[in-house]
Amino acid sequence: MTPDRLPERPLLLRNGRVLNPAAGQYTEGDLLAVSGRIAEAGPGLVVPPGAEVRDLRGAFVLPGLIDAHVHVTAFTADLASIGGTSPFYVATHAARIMSGMLDRGFTTVRDVAGGDYGLANAQAEGLIRGPRLYFGGRALSQTGGHGDGRGPGDDSPVAHSMDCRLADGVDAVRAAARDELRKGAHHIKVMASGGVASPTDRIDSVQYSMDELVAVVDEAAAANRYVAAHAYTARAVKRAIEAGIRSIEHGNLIDDSTVALLVSAGAFLVPTLVTYWALKKEGRDFGLPEVSWLKVDEVLDAGLVALERAHRGGVRLVYGTDLLGGMHRHQSEEFRIRSAVQPPLDVIQSATSVAAELLGAVGDVGTLEVGAYADAVVLDGDPLTDIGVLADPAAHMPLVVQNGVVVRSSLRPRRGRGGTPPRPGPRGCAARRPDPAGSPGRTARPPAGPSPRRRSTFRTRRRTAPRRGRSSRARSASGTRGRPARPRAAR
Ligand SMILES: [Zn+2]
Repeated sequence: MTPDRLPERPLLLRNGRVLNPAAGQYTEGDLLAVSGRIAEAGPGLVVPPGAEVRDLRGAFVLPGLIDAHVHVTAFTADLASIGGTSPFYVATHAARIMSGMLDRGFTTVRDVAGGDYGLANAQAEGLIRGPRLYFGGRALSQTGGHGDGRGPGDDSPVAHSMDCRLADGVDAVRAAARDELRKGAHHIKVMASGGVASPTDRIDSVQYSMDELVAVVDEAAAANRYVAAHAYTARAVKRAIEAGIRSIEHGNLIDDSTVALLVSAGAFLVPTLVTYWALKKEGRDFGLPEVSWLKVDEVLDAGLVALERAHRGGVRLVYGTDLLGGMHRHQSEEFRIRSAVQPPLDVIQSATSVAAELLGAVGDVGTLEVGAYADAVVLDGDPLTDIGVLADPAAHMPLVVQNGVVVRSSLRPRRGRGGTPPRPGPRGCAARRPDPAGSPGRTARPPAGPSPRRRSTFRTRRRTAPRRGRSSRARSASGTRGRPARPRAAR
């Protein structure tokens, strides 16, 4: 990947309660970002000349969030229609979708069908704003599999779509995997079972022969990459794990023996629960064909049961959303959905430290330790006691930092004190549009948008302006005393 564009001046985040997700502990202090990375961490850091300074007293600071199952090119839920569209038009939509993700605090995402080196480079070079993009290029599907968008009456020849390519037979899947790796894929995605959005397969079908799956794993391993598999049922997941696949996507219909297999293989499970809720509620409004909408019920309720089962069994769980079209705005609701069966810290780890393991990017992302990318989100409440602050970034996430640059801020500058000029408020879909449909588990949602009263506790300062005591404004320090690490289930 092209080196990221570097910020022109250091950024000092003052007096935050900084979470180490892996340890489950807050430390109160400062973070200094230089050249896009965390250069120093600790209390009372010296302000470097020319630095931008943000005082975060009373706020909670987490590493930038990671969503490990997105499709940045899926501007409609009618995936088959995307192939007939200009790639420039798709890219323009992708830029908008990625910008919304960044506004929700996702500074890194993994695209598992559709995203490519062009979008990844455009983001890294600063041509578009969005999360750092780990991509798999086009997913591999068998004929009639989850990546085959042709309906039963369609006898047109096989053609690649923008997000999937059809390949049948060991030689063909090897060549396809090699081709995606040639184009820079960080992983290879295979369709190993039926799915919701595909018109002719059954969710309980298994796809690709074992020989084909093993061949793809072989090619990925040769390139020091890994394979991610779309798989719903216990049968499909077992075949994938036996073939050596490392990342299981969805897994809504797994059983206890599959959980044991995932654990013993050290594999990751990436549930994507919010998308089923969104597809059922809004899918048809955003292009999901009727035949696909009718399949949602098969996986909707089972998903939470599977998550609970996997959590109890100690599977390494990673945050994923899989949203399509206009439903991308629900990306943060996955936090709230998962918290029904997982403690908040576990959900946070799935979007930070554990996701970093899946990406092979430990030390770079999912942490705020020295040396990591300076990606951070600032929250006005403690997500360890109320995960809802992460589920509603428009209301509770006043600051997003990526590569040591403030990329979204609703903090009020201090007038007349040489503060940083006012920046626009949140620009994401979630910020622009109140959600008329409500959210999972709720019937109404507070209006989206800035919450001036809460945000006024933060101030923007620049350079070496003298610090002002603000103890009367400081919030309860209950979160800063060092939370004991929550015992993690054995992996
Ligand atoms: Zn997907």
